[in-house]
Amino acid sequence: MNEKISKMLCKRDDTLLACMRVINTNAKGIVFVIDEERKLCGVVTDGDIRRALLEGKDLQLKVGEILKNNYVYADYDESETEMLNKFNGKINIIPLVNERMEVQDFLECAASIRIPVAKPELSGNEFKYAVEALLSTWISSNGKYIPEFEKKFAEYCETEYGVAVSNGTVALHLALVALGIGKDDEVIVPDLTFAATINSVLQANATPVIVDVEQDSWCIDPNEIEKAITPKTKAIMPVHIYGQPCDMDKIMAIAKKYNLYVIEDCAEAHGAKYNGKKVGSFGDVGCFSFFANKVITTGEGGMCTTKSEFLAEKMRILRDHGMSKSKKYYHEVVGYNYRMTNIQAAIGLAQLERIDALLLQRELLEDMYNEELSEIKSVVLQSRNIDKRYKINWLISILVQPEKRDFTIEILRGDGIEARPFFYPLSKMDIYKKYTFSNKNSLEISKCGLNLPTSVDMKKESVIKIKKVMQQIF
Ligand SMILES: *Cc1c(COP(=O)(O)O)cnc(C)c1O
Repeated sequence: MNEKISKMLCKRDDTLLACMRVINTNAKGIVFVIDEERKLCGVVTDGDIRRALLEGKDLQLKVGEILKNNYVYADYDESETEMLNKFNGKINIIPLVNERMEVQDFLECAASIRIPVAKPELSGNEFKYAVEALLSTWISSNGKYIPEFEKKFAEYCETEYGVAVSNGTVALHLALVALGIGKDDEVIVPDLTFAATINSVLQANATPVIVDVEQDSWCIDPNEIEKAITPKTKAIMPVHIYGQPCDMDKIMAIAKKYNLYVIEDCAEAHGAKYNGKKVGSFGDVGCFSFFANKVITTGEGGMCTTKSEFLAEKMRILRDHGMSKSKKYYHEVVGYNYRMTNIQAAIGLAQLERIDALLLQRELLEDMYNEELSEIKSVVLQSRNIDKRYKINWLISILVQPEKRDFTIEILRGDGIEARPFFYPLSKMDIYKKYTFSNKNSLEISKCGLNLPTSVDMKKESVIKIKKVMQQIF
């Protein structure tokens, strides 16, 4: 028997004091109790001993006297999932026994989170293509996967051109620069979004103008956009937040009326549709992210989509140090290195092959959540099927009473379930608040919102478990 295990064991007729000494040396807060034949017969935690003493028991009492028979252990015949399911917020060490009930080892739940909010799904050709990219030795930003990924992604988005870049934030910045937006220009952004949206505007030296969102969709409010327009306004940056498409009919009509550019932030909405048409195909440029928690991933990565050959070409030049396409090492504009690598594109292509299946699985998960959580009256689920919008599921998003939101997240975490609060409204952060034009719904939504685990391999049991935890709170 190894030393690690021997430090975890006590005999049934050892005293409570002796057990406490063992716990003190193993620093795990628990001992496994064995009988004369070395078979496991129970576990005792430091809490159990404390409670025994408080009940007036003596330190010389034999530990066998306080053993309960409903302790948890695992054996080698169980699957990993069965073993993992034995952990909960309270139990985080489990003895592992052989067929004679002898303790061989123990399982420890090191990271207390077992159901993460998101995790990438890489079970298709990701590995194969990435290895092919490596074997080809084209590991930087030349190689066959980049143009192929760009072409197929543009097709998927029902538009003409794709320009692959290093991440979603630089996709936004590249679009702004390619459209000539900079100093003295204003760009309208929603209050409820991830900070990359507004950061890209500031990085382009333009002035962001923050406007409120719609109450039902949580997306930028077209009426607020129109009110915020000034002679300096050059562009609107609608964000399809948490997979929900913005009201593109109204936004495109406003853009036309006032002669403004539209840059869609599609980082959370791959495959979402408005009026049957994919997001990223409405505006002058659509910007996507392939960060690890997004609908499809390349690790880090992003893409600009556009119908304009001119813009695509301009973005390609800016992406590659502003270098002339015809005259090598002659620079026409001050550019950037925003390129994606061939290895990333290889992974992206494999992800794209399965995007519809992945989205479908996410939708089934949404169905499960809707079915279970609709039993809890005070939980509001993200709206589906608002007028012409077909949303996709990036992260399952719900609203609860604001005073219970953070508590809910904590309780879920105690049960190994990761949940996270919505983004802070931009207008509530010191560095951005001076750009606020309007906010109201955004404040309310942000205070009440949380995202629940949304990995495609999630089981119904996990959703039911989440419901049960939430039922206790509400
Ligand atoms: C993730 C995200 C981005 C930025 O993407 P990165 O690839 O992480 O740079 C931009 N906008 C929104 C709304 C996002 O959610």
